Parts: sequence; C-alpha cells; structure tokens
Amino acid sequence: MSPDPVDSVAVRSGSARHLGGGEAAHSAGYGGSNVGRTGEVHLGYSGQMPAAVISTKPADLLKPLGNTQAEFSITVQRERRRERDRRRRGVQRLGVLPALDACGLEPSGANVAIRMLDGVAHVAGVKTCGSVWACPVCGAKIRHARSLEVAAALGQAERLGMGLAMLTLTVRHHQGDALDSLWRRQEAAWKGLQQSKAWRLLRDEVGLVGMITAREVTYGEHGWHPHRHVQLVLDAPAGAGRLEEWGARLATAWLHQLARQGLSAVGRWAVDVVPVSGAGVARYLEKIEPAPAERPGRAALELIRGDLKAGRYGSLTPEQLAEMVCDGEAEAVRLWTEFARASKGRRFLTWTCGLRERLAVPESLTDEEIAGAEVGGEVVAVVTAPGWWRLVGAGAVVHTLEAAEAGRDVLAAGLAADLRPGEWWIIDAFA
Ligand SMILES: [Zn+2]
Repeated sequence: MSPDPVDSVAVRSGSARHLGGGEAAHSAGYGGSNVGRTGEVHLGYSGQMPAAVISTKPADLLKPLGNTQAEFSITVQRERRRERDRRRRGVQRLGVLPALDACGLEPSGANVAIRMLDGVAHVAGVKTCGSVWACPVCGAKIRHARSLEVAAALGQAERLGMGLAMLTLTVRHHQGDALDSLWRRQEAAWKGLQQSKAWRLLRDEVGLVGMITAREVTYGEHGWHPHRHVQLVLDAPAGAGRLEEWGARLATAWLHQLARQGLSAVGRWAVDVVPVSGAGVARYLEKIEPAPAERPGRAALELIRGDLKAGRYGSLTPEQLAEMVCDGEAEAVRLWTEFARASKGRRFLTWTCGLRERLAVPESLTDEEIAGAEVGGEVVAVVTAPGWWRLVGAGAVVHTLEAAEAGRDVLAAGLAADLRPGEWWIIDAFA
C-alpha cells in the first residue's frame, strides 16, 4: 500500500516555505534581471531606468531561475540546473560544511516529490542549506532574488530623482595571504571608514542617503581578492568631478583605516567614485547575480598551480573553483575548502539602515527562505525517503529529473530500474 502521494507532499510543502506557487510565479509584469546572460541588459536599462515597477513580492522573488525571460529556453534552464547540481555534488564530496552536505540530498519528510514546471523538473521535499557563498544551487536562487530587490530599489531611487554612484575601495593583496584574515581585516577597515570623521563630513556633503554593499571573492595571480561593490544612493545626482573630488578626500581616511589593519593600497587608486545610471546599474546587478561561470581552461589550472605568467588569466570565481573541484584538481580542492570555511556566516549583501524603507523595498524573505522555497509546479512522481537515498547513492538524481522531462514512460522505466517496488509511484495525471 502506498500512502496518498498528494497528501504526503502537501503536508511537507504546505508550510510557510511553500511560497512560490506555480500560479503566482507567472503573474509579475517585469522583464527579469538576467543581465549579462546574453551580453545584453534585460531590465529595459538603456541609459534610463525602467518605467515599470519591478515586483519584489515574495512569490515573485521565488520565481524559478531563468523563467523570467521568454528567450531563456527550457534547454538552457535544464543545462544550468545540471551544472549547478553537478558542482554541488562535487563540493559536497569534500565534506566541509554539514548543511551543504545535506543540501538537495536529505529528505525533509517521508517522501520526495518530482514536480514539473514549464517543462523543467524539480525536486520538492529535500533539505536546502541556504548558503549563498558555498552552495552552487542555493547561491544561484538567493542571488537571483536579491538582484530583483536591488533592481527594484535602484529603479525607485532614479524615479524619485535621486543620484546613484559606485564606490570602489581597493586593497593590496598578495599571493599567500590567508583569505579569512584578509577578509576580516578588510571588513574592519570598511567599518572603521564609515565611523570616521572624514566619512561623516563627506557623507553629508555629498548627500548620501544610503548604500548597498555586495561582497565578492575571487582568486587571481596575487592570491585571494575579497572585495566590495558599494552602490551609493545620493539625494540628488552628482557630477563626476564632484564625486572624484569626494573620493580623493576619502582616500586618506581609507589608507589610514587599512594601515590600522596592517593593510595598504596604492594611494591614487585607493578610492574611486563614479556616477552610474543604466548600464552601470546593470553591471552592479551582475555582481550580485553573475552569469554562469565559464568552464576554466588550462590557463586557470596554471594559475592555481602558481606557475602562471602574470596577467594571462584574470581571476577565478568560487564557482569556477567548484568546477575544478569536480575535475579532481587538488589545488582547487585546497582553495575551495579555504573559501568555504572563510565565507561561512559572512554577509554577502548589506543595505544601510533605513534604505530599504526609503526605496519601498522591505526585506521580505531570508536567504534560507529563498533557498528553501519550492518553486511549485505539478507533482508528477513521488519517491519514498529510502528510495530517494538509493537514487542519491547511485548518483541518479539529475538523471531522474531528465527522465521526468522526457515523459511518463521514460520516468517510469528509470525509476523501475533504479528502485524497488513500493519506493516510487507516478501520479496518474502525469501524461
Ligand atoms: Zn544549498
């Protein structure tokens, strides 16, 4: 006797976490923020902010990745899911973070459901880790939702006649610097700068309303490079000359804060402030939700092995390191492990106090809620928890999703081959 599959699924997903129902996922009227995926800007930014209001309602934030754009084909969505899942499996094998190790694998109830939404199969009823840094799957969902919020906020700022500017603070870093120490000291310097007298004076002078700070870590020829992209919201647009002068005056305070942390920067490059609009905003959103990483080539291997001629390979993202982990590259394993430990618990994106309210984008969901929300869609099959573990053990999860996408008969044949009778069943309505 099989339990009623629909009920058992509903019990697990009927809580507050089931926020992204299929019906709600298609109701919003914005163009998506998949900036940079095709080299073009899809928010309507062509020097001006979109006139349309971008929704940041919970249900809209949780739209399945890639479903925000008509031209984003089912094939591409399936390919990206496969890539993200493969990278997650690759880093899970290292056993660095327990929550990550359970992500997408450990059932959260008695059964796991396979759901279909717009031709793409998903798993419902498994735990998620909610790690924006270390998890290729959760990270992609969180970044997607956060980029929608930031796009909405910056669009609203421009509609209100506010000014936008990008602040870049540089720090010297060296091959061999430990990421954790470098990151901690940079954050301390950044905090110290904001508490400095120079900052407070200049802040009032330039009319700073608030800031959104996105953090990023890359690995390049000088080793680890943790850095920030700071989006400034000003009470009115400011000219390039005025911002440049502001940056030059801030540089002294920044160098002082760096020195207190045992760090340094090249004086005249230490602080850069430039006005941004349209394309600049799009580039900022790309920092929050980057396009899927290119597969690293041979130059990347030379880079992490330390025998690269300077400048031949720019830098590697953690996602690219994860890709190299999947390939069994020992140095990538060491670097990714260091990254996962150093990034744990660190904030990825921060808004200054009151800015969300001012721009009418209240924080609606936590990273964990975004990562854990099920995308909805029709339940096509149910697998019991023991059966699910068997699929996981056989490395057959993605294969099962692909079978569901190929249709009922293919899925039934696949599950029958991998599982025992009573461990799975197909929903009658699945054609
Ligand atoms: Zn995860």
